[in-house]
Amino acid sequence: MIETKQIERPKLILIADDIEINQDALEVILEEDYHLLFAENGKEALEMMYSHKDDLSMLLLDLNMPLMNGYEVLEHIRQDEQLQHIPVIVLTADKNAELRALQLGAADFITKPFDIPEIILTRVDRILELSEGKKLISAAETERLTGLYTRNFFFEYAWRLYRYHSEMHMDAIVINIEQFHSINAVNGRGFGDSVLKLIGDEIRTFLAGTQGIASRVEADRFDVYCLQQNDYRALLDRFQEAVNRYMPNVSIHLRMGVMPWREEIDPVVMFDRAQAACNMVRGDYQNPLMIYNEELHSQELMTQRLLNDLNSAITEHQLKVYYQPKYDIQCVPPRLFSAEALIRWRHPELGMIAPGQFIPLFENKGLIGKVDSYVWEEAARQVKEWKEKYGFLLPVSVNLSRADVFDPTLVDRVVRLIRENDLDFRDIKLEVTESAYTDQAKDVLDVVLRLREHGFEIEMDDFGSGYSSLNMLSDMPIDVLKMDMKFIRNIESSDTDMRLVRLILDIAKYLRVKAVAEGVETPGQLSLLKEAGCDIVQGFFFSRPVPPEEFEKLIQQEIALERSTE
Ligand code: C2E
Ligand code: MG
Ligand code: MG
Repeated sequence: MIETKQIERPKLILIADDIEINQDALEVILEEDYHLLFAENGKEALEMMYSHKDDLSMLLLDLNMPLMNGYEVLEHIRQDEQLQHIPVIVLTADKNAELRALQLGAADFITKPFDIPEIILTRVDRILELSEGKKLISAAETERLTGLYTRNFFFEYAWRLYRYHSEMHMDAIVINIEQFHSINAVNGRGFGDSVLKLIGDEIRTFLAGTQGIASRVEADRFDVYCLQQNDYRALLDRFQEAVNRYMPNVSIHLRMGVMPWREEIDPVVMFDRAQAACNMVRGDYQNPLMIYNEELHSQELMTQRLLNDLNSAITEHQLKVYYQPKYDIQCVPPRLFSAEALIRWRHPELGMIAPGQFIPLFENKGLIGKVDSYVWEEAARQVKEWKEKYGFLLPVSVNLSRADVFDPTLVDRVVRLIRENDLDFRDIKLEVTESAYTDQAKDVLDVVLRLREHGFEIEMDDFGSGYSSLNMLSDMPIDVLKMDMKFIRNIESSDTDMRLVRLILDIAKYLRVKAVAEGVETPGQLSLLKEAGCDIVQGFFFSRPVPPEEFEKLIQQEIALERSTE
């Protein structure tokens, strides 16, 4: 095939302005880069557009012209498919004209008296580029299902409102549907679509006659940029009631996040915050409305901070691994059995940070692998050191996150860890939280089986936190059940809780695995557990998680005890 190279000809621009000096000024600025045509009034401009409709790249349009003014020209273009593809930049001295021109479809404007030439040239170039891209997506200014703006157009218009109409105080509001995927799954996509359409219609009715705009920016997220409201709850109720009215047989819950107008904050940030607020009330059917406030802001800053600081935490060894002992309580006196490695972050400015503050965050952002690798390596190195120093077998359990379990390199990584530190597979145990077993149970099963084939022991952490079913359990190749702390907390006062603990111990016996009780704080809890046949106990009663230097003292005590009973 012969490739035909097209020589690019300069693009053709029509300048419609009745004032000659304006024409001249623009000619001077643009003539080097573009071919130019001139019209002196709206009527003439339209005629020229028709005769050049296939090669005209842009119209620069004055709003005040004889015979037919710029607004009428815009109106005409908007209604004629033959001309719609030609972008229009409006030339105007009247700031108030801008919004109307934009609403009539103008792509941008140049203010009179004319800006410095570079600015005009840049604007023209930019709009030409945009319009070439836009030809491909021109159908997508509004979205098929709801008729609301698509994301890019929405943000472009929101930004223009913000920039050129700072006198309008606009709120950013995000509306989301709870469990939308289940609504789709249960009732079918067609139904899901009709819910979206209904909400879209209601939003459009709400905005009708105002300067507000809205978009379905993705699946079930609606962004509304509207004049400042005084009762957000009433607004949410309005949408919720519309849904209840038209879909009475399916329960559909909306939630809403609001970022109230703030002069110095642009729409992109406004909507980020409204979205963050909306996320905060996910699943909270009692309080489905959240208004962004200072507390949320500082939480967000904290989150950002932790994410930013993760790398230096690793390279500067701010992450510390603490160890908490587990005791075999069926011996008299109880014997040190193993330990759990628990991470701490000693932040140079924020002080000590507990894992609850950053583990879920890093899990969400897909960064947990980095943290866990660090902990595993550190734990393996420590076990090796103690083994050499004391000749004492003290297995250490490390925690695995859901994401670790689904990481295809997991098995290789932990196997390498054992080999590189000259350890035995029994030296490191793996705690996998119960919630990791729930979905894709079969994939988890495969991974766990492979780990066990190597000789790792697997402990199911947080057992009973509410996920696994008994029949799944019997298929699960595990070695230890660690019951969730919440069962232990009240066993001294609540009969029901103690019965649950007995039940879990029975399950463990039935599965022929050891049971570990976590969170044991009092002698009373300890004796109840012992009497019920629980093997292993971990908790503040014996020791809090401590740094390795302190943990060594527990090892030394244990060795002394061993010697004295020999
Ligand atoms: P977990 O694995 O269930 O760890 C047990 C948690 O219970 C630890 O909290 C421990 O300090 C606490 N605990 C132990 N005994 C008692 C007690 O008697 N009373 C009370 N009230 N609490 C007790 P910690 O260290 O804050 O860790 C919280 C969770 O963070 C852990 O729960 C684990 O899920 C996660 N985590 C900790 N370190 C790591 C890690 O290196 N990697 C991963 N992926 N997760 C980790
Ligand atoms: Mg654990
Ligand atoms: Mg646990």
